[in-house]
Amino acid sequence: MKVFYRKEQVGPVQRASPSAHKSRWVVEDWQKNLGAAVEICSFEPATEKQIARAHQADFVQGILGCTVANGFGNRDQAVAQSLPYTSGSMLAAAAYAVLHKAVVCSPTSGFHHAGFSNAWGYCTFNGLMVTALALKDAGLVNRVAILDCDAHYGDGTDSIIRAQGIDWIVHHTQGQDFWDAETAANGAYERWLSAAISECLHCDLVLYQAGADPHIDDPLGRTLTTAQMRERDRTVFQRLGHLPLVWNLAGGYQVVEGDTEAERIEPVLALHRETARLHCEMFG
Ligand SMILES: [Zn+2]
Repeated sequence: MKVFYRKEQVGPVQRASPSAHKSRWVVEDWQKNLGAAVEICSFEPATEKQIARAHQADFVQGILGCTVANGFGNRDQAVAQSLPYTSGSMLAAAAYAVLHKAVVCSPTSGFHHAGFSNAWGYCTFNGLMVTALALKDAGLVNRVAILDCDAHYGDGTDSIIRAQGIDWIVHHTQGQDFWDAETAANGAYERWLSAAISECLHCDLVLYQAGADPHIDDPLGRTLTTAQMRERDRTVFQRLGHLPLVWNLAGGYQVVEGDTEAERIEPVLALHRETARLHCEMFG
């Protein structure tokens, strides 16, 4: 499993959300539990110009210069410095996936609430849209699918699609249709996922947000059972794994008692570990 990871993409621990720092713990967890199957790949950070293809230029400049609040609501320079690397991870992973017709992983979070000129909900730059636009500009893709299985509505992605009048991105975001276990029960979630996947089939690249926060025990999700989450990943990989595909981490907010931060987010690590294990099983 190729994992596009650099330590520079790891932001500081934030009180509200572990997502900026999560990649490090996730990658360490995979190396410990999956061993040699995990291959770390380096990459270049996204440039300001690449980021500004998805966002308003002044907004990008303000965020990178720490004069505009980031998605955590602060102007922490360490967050700003990590941002070109989170988008860069997704972009490099997607370029690799397209060029090698592969399924790969970008251990990133914090993209889908970032709109054309605003940051919120722990998201600052929309690495999904930065990636889609960069590869479209490079002539590497015609149509891109964003299959967003984070628990929450990818409003930022929709905002950028609207602001730029984009008609070549297929965007499905489960947070628009599901918000608790009841809405996702009796096959409703599985029907939604199947229909969404069918529309992704005609794309040249799939960006799959394999969020951990839809889990039934997640304080910000409470939507899908462990079995449904597992089946979600299996269905996506089975039906879309023949296409260039990048999956990432997106949200996950369960915490338990523990001595270290990694121990405290073990339920989230366990969910991402399942996705990674399945990847290794199906794609090597
Ligand atoms: Zn979320």
